[in-house]
Order: sequence, then structure tokens, then C-alpha cells
Amino acid sequence: MSSVDTTIQLISANEIDGEVCSTDLAEGPWVFDLLAEPGYGPGSSMHDEIPAETPRQGEIPAEYREASDEELEARIFAAKETLGDRVVVLGHFYQRDEVVRYADFVGDSFQLANAARSKPQAEAIVFCGVHFMAETADILARPDQAVILPNLAAGCSMADMADIDSVAECWEQLEALYGTEPDADGRVPVIPVTYMNSSAALKGFCAEHGGIVCTSSNAATVLEWAFERGQRVLFFPDQHLGRNTAKAMGVPVELMPMWNPRKPLGGNEAQELEDARVILWHGFCSVHKRFTVGQIEKARAEFPGVQVLVHPECPMPVVDAADAAGSTDFIGKAIAAATEPTTFAIGTEINMVNRLAAQYPQHRIFCLDPVICPCSTMYRIHPAYLAWVLEGLVRGETINRIRVADDVAVPARVALERMLAARPGGPSERVIGD
Ligand code: SF4
Repeated sequence: MSSVDTTIQLISANEIDGEVCSTDLAEGPWVFDLLAEPGYGPGSSMHDEIPAETPRQGEIPAEYREASDEELEARIFAAKETLGDRVVVLGHFYQRDEVVRYADFVGDSFQLANAARSKPQAEAIVFCGVHFMAETADILARPDQAVILPNLAAGCSMADMADIDSVAECWEQLEALYGTEPDADGRVPVIPVTYMNSSAALKGFCAEHGGIVCTSSNAATVLEWAFERGQRVLFFPDQHLGRNTAKAMGVPVELMPMWNPRKPLGGNEAQELEDARVILWHGFCSVHKRFTVGQIEKARAEFPGVQVLVHPECPMPVVDAADAAGSTDFIGKAIAAATEPTTFAIGTEINMVNRLAAQYPQHRIFCLDPVICPCSTMYRIHPAYLAWVLEGLVRGETINRIRVADDVAVPARVALERMLAARPGGPSERVIGD
């Protein structure tokens, strides 16, 4: 099976049939580094705007942009060889194969941040993921370890949908409505919960307001933790993970109003917010929102007996129509556990789906979305950027270091530690759906 990048190149050159969500993906990502006001494109999130404070990626030297794949490969391996244990390279599940092949660890964002901790001798952690992941790794790393993001324009469009100012403004309005006094059971009016896919500032905000962080693996456990302490939850930035998880826990959908930061009271009536159990921020993942019930119906018609597994960042009707929903880790384990040849239709990012298909040739594994549409922001990390930062380290130069200031990192670490200490009231991986 060819890589997603190769497939995109061939489709864009009309050499094979297929569809790509944006033919711009076939361009080198450095094309976008030169634009005066780069959007997050190319790809499905191309219309998202980069917040003003987002770090911008400048032009990388021509020797990297113009190097052949073979030359980049030789240079990356040589730099890694020279650096030895002084560097650890991390690759997210959604990263392209052309980069993941150089990773010492592959996993989800939190697994990778922890994997970095298992390499205490590493002076540099090169995170081939997106910005919030590098921030989390920096928060958990030793102060003398440098966390590097090879392309600073590799952000997460979902994470950027909730910025600290908008959340603080929302919080002020909720406090004005609810007050701050606990009820007779000692539960405060509202607890903030942020998904891992958020800025370090929001993680710190949660810690400072009695809240916590969650991942897609432990969202139910974390919501139980929050409901023990609060009458309601303010969940950001991903509405879908919040809605799907709370619904599976028995929270009625009508008690989950959505907060639009551009409208007073988030666009809600005061009574709706009074009655709410979970207030959902209006964020979403550009990749996972592409999955539809129609795709599931088509897969079931074509492959009777197909097992449909989707990520809980997918919209609720998709999660409801699937056989099961869970994190990337859950999806990988569900496939690994299948003892008989099985057809799996998967609703998550295409790089991960293709990798699973190659890993388990005894099964038929395909992505529900027929259009090739990787996470376009993570796709901005190309081997050229990896060669650039690794050779910088060989020269003693640290390029694209991600540093979270102590006044943010200290509370953000508290929110992460609360998450690790939260104990499940049920299974840690809750199957959502049937
Ligand atoms: S797949 Fe979605 S949530 Fe994950 S990094 Fe990309 S844009 Fe963000």
C-alpha cells in the first residue's frame, strides 16, 4: 500500500483515480511558509485562520526545500546517528509515513509526551505532531530538555477554536449567572474541562478554576470526576467529544447547550444554561467532522458484517451509527483483538487507517471517507523540516523550540496531574454506541 503522500501526489498528477480534499496538499508545505498571512491550509481546515499569537514558520533553507527524498533520508539518518541518545523523535499516529519512519516512538499525544519522559538522557525532543502536543511535552519534560516542533505552522485547527480570552470571557458570564457558591452537596456551579487538544494556557486556566484535562481515552472518567465536584461542566474545545461522552454517560442531549463565543451567553437563554449539565464549546476537528452516516450505510451495504469503528471527535449521529467509538488507542486495540479475518471501516485520520491496514493484512481495513484528506496541519511537517532541525542540533543550534512559560506551565501541569489521578468509576475505555 502506498503512503498517503504518494497517493496524493499521484492523484494530483492524474496518474491514478481518486479524490483529495485539496490538491494544494501536493505542494511542498514551504509554499505556505512564504505567504504573508498563511491560513492553516492546505486541506479541509484551509479556511481556518491562525490566531495572531500563533508562531509563524519562516522559510527553511533552499538546501532542504530542494533536496531529493533520498538526500533527505540520508541526512536525517546521519544526523540521528550522530546525535544518538541526545535526541528522541516522536511521531503522532496521524503523521505522514515519510516522517513517522524516523520516529523512535509512535502514539497519541499523551502517550508521546510520556514516551519522551522515558528518555531522560535526551537533550532534545523532536515532536512530529502539532503545536499543542509539543507544548504538553515541554510541560512534562525537564527544564533542560528542548522540545522542538519541526514546522511551527503545524497547529491544530480545533485547538485554535478556543482561545484563552474567549474562554475567560465565557467563564465571567457563567459566574455572573451561576454565582460561585457550592450547593448542599459541596458541588460548585461549573467545572471547566479541556480536551488535551488545547493550548497550554487553557490547561492552566482549568487548573486555576478547579478543572482538569481529558484525552479521548479517559473523557468519561474525567467527566465523572468533574460531576462529583460540580453541578455542570464547561467542555472545550471539541463539542463532539464532549457530547458523545456525556451522552454515553446518560446526560440528555437537550441538557448540553452549545456555547458560541461570538454571542451573549454563548447564544443561549439563561434558563438553558441553568438547566445545563454540559456546556459545549463550538469547536470541532476538521478531519473528523467529514465522517457521515451515509458513509457508514454505504460500508454496511457493500460489506455485510463490517465493523465500523469511529473516533469520538466524529459528530454524534456518526458515533451512534457506528459499532463502537473510542480513541486511536481503542481503535488499534479493537483491531488487534480480532481473532477472525474481519472487515473494519474506520472513522479516523487516513494515515493511521492506512498504517493499521498494512499492519493487519489478515483483515480488510479501510477509511470511511473515500476522499484522501489527512490532518492538513500535521501534514505540514515534511522530512525537509525534520532534516533542518536535526542538522541544527548537530551544529549545536536549537531551532523551533517550544517553551511554555512557567506561569502557564505550572498550573497546566496541575491540570494534567489531576487527570492522571482521576479514578475511573467504570471502564477506562468506554465503548460509545451500541
Ligand atoms: S486531526 Fe483534528 S484534532 Fe487532531 S491535530 Fe488534526 S485538526 Fe487537530
